[in-house]
Amino acid sequence: AKRQGGGAVSVFGHALRTAVVDRWATEHGLHRALDRGELRVHYQPVVEVRTLVPVALEALVRWEHPEWGLVAPDRFVPVAEESGLIVPMGRLVLEQVCQQLRHWVEAIDLHGEGPQTLGSGVVEVNLSARQIDHPQLVPTVEAVVAAAGVPPSWLTFEITESALMRDAARALGVLRALKDLGVSLAVDDFGTGYSSLSYLQRFPLDVLKVDRSFVAELGRDGGARAIVAAVVGLAHSLGLAVVAEGVETEAQLQVLDELGCDYAQGFLFARPAAPEDLAEELLPGFRA
Ligand code: C2E
Ligand code: CA
Ligand code: CA
Ligand code: CA
Repeated sequence: AKRQGGGAVSVFGHALRTAVVDRWATEHGLHRALDRGELRVHYQPVVEVRTLVPVALEALVRWEHPEWGLVAPDRFVPVAEESGLIVPMGRLVLEQVCQQLRHWVEAIDLHGEGPQTLGSGVVEVNLSARQIDHPQLVPTVEAVVAAAGVPPSWLTFEITESALMRDAARALGVLRALKDLGVSLAVDDFGTGYSSLSYLQRFPLDVLKVDRSFVAELGRDGGARAIVAAVVGLAHSLGLAVVAEGVETEAQLQVLDELGCDYAQGFLFARPAAPEDLAEELLPGFRA
């Protein structure tokens, strides 16, 4: 019994130590990643459900670690949030997005169509609660966008329900200031936040993104269809567009079409990819 108890403590101690070392290594590595330019933005298309025409791209950060390879954000974004590194990282993501937009605009110009073929809110950028809390968020966004010469209307910021509700009064002020810059605003992971629905009409929102946990259930029996139908109805009655996240099957797409969902995003259409690997027909505004 004594050996068992000791073993249990030791296993726990080992797991704890591993977690601490892992967290430290991640945070330490992230500092280096920011300095050495190891963070890269990948993009995933959002398509219109009725026509399958690409209308936007979500910017998703990746860490190209020299030894670990491509690190997914679930592995380092939480550490970046906890440590505050999400603030410089978020700025870097926005700078890369704006540079990429400039690059695409020049490519469109080569097609002789002009930058007006890019629609509003064409690139969706994730913001975490920690960034919303930061007093320099709005001036930083304004400065980065102006320096790149990108119209703010080309950007949508995605904010999770839980980040909005953490300090709703503060979030409301920040969202209004962002909106005044001319960007669009989306609620991310909608349906997972246990929040009251009243905020939907109080915040100046444009888009509601239905969490992929609901979409995953759509092809099967059960309540997901009713929930998504209700979300689409609610969003439309408030004048918001609806994006379904994580669409992986034709069956799910079929149901979303029946329910009148506006836009969809998921592996069925394309996985997130580096900008140079995105097929031209997946780029919004590049269609002939
Ligand atoms: P999210 O904002 O909900 O992003 C959507 C996630 O769903 C992405 O994961 C995307 O690759 C994944 N996804 C897209 N389609 C499908 C599908 O059909 N099936 C499945 N199973 N997954 C799909 P990713 O890129 O690993 O990002 C994870 C999370 O990390 C994001 O969730 C977001 O919360 C956070 N994140 C990513 N980039 C940034 C960033 O630049 N800033 C901040 N603050 N957070 C970020
Ligand atoms: Ca998102
Ligand atoms: Ca999401
Ligand atoms: Ca998420």
